[in-house]
Amino acid sequence: MTLPHLTLRERVLEANLEIVRTGLVVLTFGNASGVDRDVGVMAIKPSGVAYERLTAEAIVVVDLEGGAVVAGEARPSSDTDTHLVLYRAFAGVGGIVHTHSPYATAWAQACRELPCLGTTHADHFDGPVPVTRRLERGEIEGDYERLTGEAIVEEFERLALDPLDRPAALVASHGPFAWGADVETAVENAVALEVVAASAFRTELLRPDVQPIADDLRQRHFRRKHGPGAYYGQAT
Ligand SMILES: [Zn+2]
Repeated sequence: MTLPHLTLRERVLEANLEIVRTGLVVLTFGNASGVDRDVGVMAIKPSGVAYERLTAEAIVVVDLEGGAVVAGEARPSSDTDTHLVLYRAFAGVGGIVHTHSPYATAWAQACRELPCLGTTHADHFDGPVPVTRRLERGEIEGDYERLTGEAIVEEFERLALDPLDRPAALVASHGPFAWGADVETAVENAVALEVVAASAFRTELLRPDVQPIADDLRQRHFRRKHGPGAYYGQAT
């Protein structure tokens, strides 16, 4: 019998392996997920399983609405509820990557948004990458993973941001979540986030009073890769 949701599970497996290969994840500090909105399911890494033992069969498939496991033997990632909240709130998102990549995590731990200082950042994120508020004690002791997701959504609503224009967030005192229209783009955005977090850190060391990139230059870079006027890369 063919494995249920095989293609989605294979893509999510590949994304989970890729975040290790690219150096974003060590030990088990991370997870990638993808959705099939037509079927109403999310596939995600199982909890606490070493990456070298991951297979498509080990990837867990859960119901997008209720969160119940619909395929897979293992328990899904402990961050599953955070992923589900983001998919439910952000309709255009098809893949999510959570890591503790070093520089993005440093900004998250500093509880600072990641300023947009240059064109590399603007190629992927149309402005600063937001940081959530700190969770309160009752929230940490309560439905912590779900409320972590709610804190991200709350910040995007407060700032009136389009999640696909700003496809990442820094969770205060924790680390980054990145996403995209599909799981492959989510991985790419997680890699880009770490690169620009490192570069912004060094830029502030060289010049503590550095100003954000000019609005017109930022928009030019973001819009040439995204949206109706995009012209970067090859026509498909
Ligand atoms: Zn984490």
